[in-house]
Amino acid sequence: MTDDDGGRRDAELVSALGAVRARIHDACAGVGRDPSSVTLVAVTKTHPASDVATLERLGVLDVGESKDQEARAKIAELAELPEPPVDLRWHVVGRVQSNKARSVAGYAYAVHSVDRGKLARALGESAAGRSQGPLEVFVQVSLDGDPERGGVVRDGVAALTDLVAGQAGLILRGVMAVPPIGADPEAAFAQLAQIAASVRLAHPGADSISAGMSADLEAAVRNGATHVRVGSALLGRRGSVVS
Ligand SMILES: *Cc1c(COP(=O)(O)O)cnc(C)c1O
Repeated sequence: MTDDDGGRRDAELVSALGAVRARIHDACAGVGRDPSSVTLVAVTKTHPASDVATLERLGVLDVGESKDQEARAKIAELAELPEPPVDLRWHVVGRVQSNKARSVAGYAYAVHSVDRGKLARALGESAAGRSQGPLEVFVQVSLDGDPERGGVVRDGVAALTDLVAGQAGLILRGVMAVPPIGADPEAAFAQLAQIAASVRLAHPGADSISAGMSADLEAAVRNGATHVRVGSALLGRRGSVVS
């Protein structure tokens, strides 16, 4: 990549970030929320480490990845830079196999996709005593009751949140969901807000809601999202050649 290409990509990211921040701001204004109550997690999967570095320079410190292998590769690449970013917080947003728990606990600040006890225990054991402190956990809820796509069914949320809260290596941060395919995001996020409220009764500190992506972040913010996970609206289409 030439410097010109880098300059063009930087300009693209500056403009996209401004637009996403404006969307978050407007959505907050519409419901009387403070925009600083919403954390933007930039989902950088399939995009190069250089984009992560650019976003970091622009003040985006929360970075989301779906795959352990891809996250590790980017972290290694960033560490090789002359001035490596040191303040990034890596959020794992995709399905995690229990046998990847140790690896994930090595770099992750938060995991948004904890949906079963086996994974919670594996992450808890791996994160216990790590130098970065406890790993933050969002319990992923399946809103359509089909756990095939990830997420614990509603009836299982209380037991799983209790289990996470009981792990010394973990901090229960809240809940996360992806709207079912074809569902009205507004209705889905309203349902998630109810589930979040019931979790908070048992765990007052678990006050976060990870909801909303490029297409539906406004609906999520209206329904109390504290973390929006935005990929394509910031970084462009996945799988397309970055030019
Ligand atoms: C890819 C992904 C995102 C980002 O999706 P966009 O539609 O590109 O914003 C958010 N959350 C999860 C769980 C993802 O896998």
